[in-house]
Amino acid sequence: MTGERLEEIHLFGKSVTMGKLLRKIFLVDLFTGLKVTFRSQNPKYIYTEQYPAERPKVGERYRGAPRLNINPDNGETLCIACNLCALACPESLIVVGSERNEQTKRKELTTFTYDTSRCMFCGLCEDACPVDALELTQDFELATYTREGQIWDRQTLEEGPKPTPYKC
Ligand code: SF4
Ligand code: SF4
Repeated sequence: MTGERLEEIHLFGKSVTMGKLLRKIFLVDLFTGLKVTFRSQNPKYIYTEQYPAERPKVGERYRGAPRLNINPDNGETLCIACNLCALACPESLIVVGSERNEQTKRKELTTFTYDTSRCMFCGLCEDACPVDALELTQDFELATYTREGQIWDRQTLEEGPKPTPYKC
């Protein structure tokens, strides 16, 4: 018979070792947990964000709200309606509408929809865009009151979302 076996005690039909029994009697696990809890109560570890009065800084590589960039020189969209972003999207949530300009023989963007509710912000569409027209910005305020509000049209993508301003 081993030493550990000799230490076993039968309690309420169960066998426990003396060490385990003492841990339970003296609430060792409870105090170990409380030690962790109280260590985190130290004021120097407490961090409070005053959002939305103060907007937090997000990581440099954070991918948030999509934006369809326009050319600042002429105010026209940078998008050439090539559809590569829609093809790259694993969720198939981008729909690009275009029509052929008979004079220039070029495709021109007409509509652009982006369903933010299904987006996982992987950035594949952004990477696929050959002209940097589609960009995932650092804006994180994507909440809306309706499901339909999560589907952004071309105007929203170009002008950016307009979240309700916070009043103190
Ligand atoms: S970020 Fe990813 S999931 Fe979202 S639209 Fe782009 S490719 Fe699709
Ligand atoms: S990949 Fe870029 S240029 Fe092509 S349709 Fe998408 S946003 Fe427009």
